[in-house]
Amino acid sequence: MKAAAINPLESAQKQLRVAARLLGLDNKTLNVLSQPKRELNDDIPVRMDDGSTQNFNSLRVQHNDALGPFKGGIRFGPGVSLEEVKALAMWMTWKTALVGIPFGGAKGGIICDPKRFSKRELEALSRGYVQQFVEYIGPDKDIPAPDMYTNAQIMAWMLDEYEKLTGHHAPAAFTGKPVELGGIGARESATGYGGAVVVQQVAKLLKMKPKSTTVAIQGFGNVGHNVAEFLFDAGYKIVALSDSQGAIYNRKGLNPAAAMTCKVEKGRIAECYFAGSVVNGSKSGVITNDELLELDVDILIPAALENQITSKNAGKVKAKVVAELANGPTTPEADRILFEKKAVVVPDTLTNSGGVIGSYFEWVQNSYGYYWADDEVREKLSRILVDAFEKVVQKSREHKVDMRTGAYLLAVGKVARSIELRGGI
Ligand code: GLU
Repeated sequence: MKAAAINPLESAQKQLRVAARLLGLDNKTLNVLSQPKRELNDDIPVRMDDGSTQNFNSLRVQHNDALGPFKGGIRFGPGVSLEEVKALAMWMTWKTALVGIPFGGAKGGIICDPKRFSKRELEALSRGYVQQFVEYIGPDKDIPAPDMYTNAQIMAWMLDEYEKLTGHHAPAAFTGKPVELGGIGARESATGYGGAVVVQQVAKLLKMKPKSTTVAIQGFGNVGHNVAEFLFDAGYKIVALSDSQGAIYNRKGLNPAAAMTCKVEKGRIAECYFAGSVVNGSKSGVITNDELLELDVDILIPAALENQITSKNAGKVKAKVVAELANGPTTPEADRILFEKKAVVVPDTLTNSGGVIGSYFEWVQNSYGYYWADDEVREKLSRILVDAFEKVVQKSREHKVDMRTGAYLLAVGKVARSIELRGGI
């Protein structure tokens, strides 16, 4: 599952231009929204376990804060790039605006291979990131969160470093923290949970019955694994699962919880086809990630990287619905092909916004110092998503455009209006 060499920033800018044209946005505003407001780019020196010191390029891109403090995750990975982080920061702006939470958009990244780091090295890298960018972070400035290859432990180190450097407690400066440090239980699975809520809305709209609805999911990290389990519990038939090294397919259905147990044990999902209760039928078997995308299923959920559905394979996608749990998995050219084929693409800014909505509830609770139950968080999160889903459907029908453009019209319109109310550019 390699991200093809398509520049995600160019894709994000293309998507923005389509909405800007329909909204009649002036060129000045379009130019400002096409680029981030601030770009932080520095090397972090880390003392490695072997005694050497290595530098890791670290990024924080703050796209827009017209609606509130910058908000967005930090990803670690060898493939992280400035252009990618810029696109992801822009998508965060649209995501938070679309679902109506009081944040702007940002994203961070460190170019490194986290799988080769010891725990101590990871801690040093995480603390180094905060030392580098501390003056730009804060509950009312910019609130980072986990993303690919980052997690609650990394947020805990970052928060600790931030509080040491600033000299006061500030749990709302980071979200996705461990529960003991002000995190909330429902945050970790919030992206997958929100994705399942959105999938159920689109299934209802298209009159699909869960039991006879087949689902293929690309990616088995936090997001892919959680959405698989929530949809399985809701009665959907999960027929394919994958990780970066391969996929398994069975048309009678797979059990994602059993697949997870096996993956933990064996390391790769492709090893899990015959494991215990993962597969409850016969037929089919191990396939590639590319084959997974082209399966004859009702719902396809890309939950891994950008640029998975492109002009090269969009024509071969057979799913009626593509629900984007990853950020930017479909290129603008692929969008056009899928729209012509009448496949419904439920855009990332809506489908995967459960994560940042969960972060919002964490931030609110940290700010108040008052905590409520996870059930209440999920209920509130669902309500926001159901409402946003309906608005996007309505907008796209009104303009006879795909759901992505509908979502952009709502989000970009809101951000542009708030810039205007602040006195313009
Ligand atoms: N990394 C997640 C995303 O891409 C969550 C961001 C956040 O909670 O700030 O939406």
